[in-house]
Amino acid sequence: MKQEDSYRHKGLRKQLVDQLRTKGITDEAVLAAINEVPRHVFLDSSFVELAYQDMAFPIGSGQTISQPSTVAFQSQLLQVESGMKVLEIGTGSGYQACVLAAMGAKVFSIERQRNLYFKTKEILEQLPFRVKTFLGDGYEGLPTYQPFDRVIITAGAPSVPEKLVEQMKAHAVMVIPMDNADGEGQTMLRITKMEDGTLKEEAFGDFKFVPMLKEIGND
Ligand code: SAH
Repeated sequence: MKQEDSYRHKGLRKQLVDQLRTKGITDEAVLAAINEVPRHVFLDSSFVELAYQDMAFPIGSGQTISQPSTVAFQSQLLQVESGMKVLEIGTGSGYQACVLAAMGAKVFSIERQRNLYFKTKEILEQLPFRVKTFLGDGYEGLPTYQPFDRVIITAGAPSVPEKLVEQMKAHAVMVIPMDNADGEGQTMLRITKMEDGTLKEEAFGDFKFVPMLKEIGND
């Protein structure tokens, strides 16, 4: 591992888990995964001391690692069960992907930002979590690996990407931060694909994500 996982890191992680409980995270599988995944490994060394605060941080290329409470909240909404195939849009640091993998999911994660894709791939190779990463445009999904049980989008989306819905099994669930009409942040939605292909939508409050952009880039 790039950085060791010390008793101090483990202790800080336990404190973070307690904090997440007070913030309404009740799913024990999610809390166990947060307790297991060493978040400091995903951060630039200048932020390591702050890795277990409930805060977002820059990870280079203008992107951020999501706040632990947001990662936990999205993971909880996703209702992941062991063995499920999960498609993540926006690999970023790789932290969210590892939390889902620690819950037993087979994670397929797409990142559009070239530099970030390679940087994260290197970090993930040093960790024991089963995450397959892809450089690509999340709007296209992964036709080769479909259908998925779960889809999680970790960037602010202007609409529900149609191709991703097509790649979901019947009864599959998508968790997506959807841009608000006033341009101020996103509303977290959980979308369930019904047997007849129609979508059931539930809303879960306001969040702030970086935008979901089109096509691979270096920006
Ligand atoms: N899940 C990440 C959070 C990343 S922030 C983590 O745990 O750290 C959102 C990420 O989505 C950024 O890295 C951004 O480059 C990426 N992104 C934005 N639009 C995308 C698209 N169309 N396809 C794939 N990735 C995209």
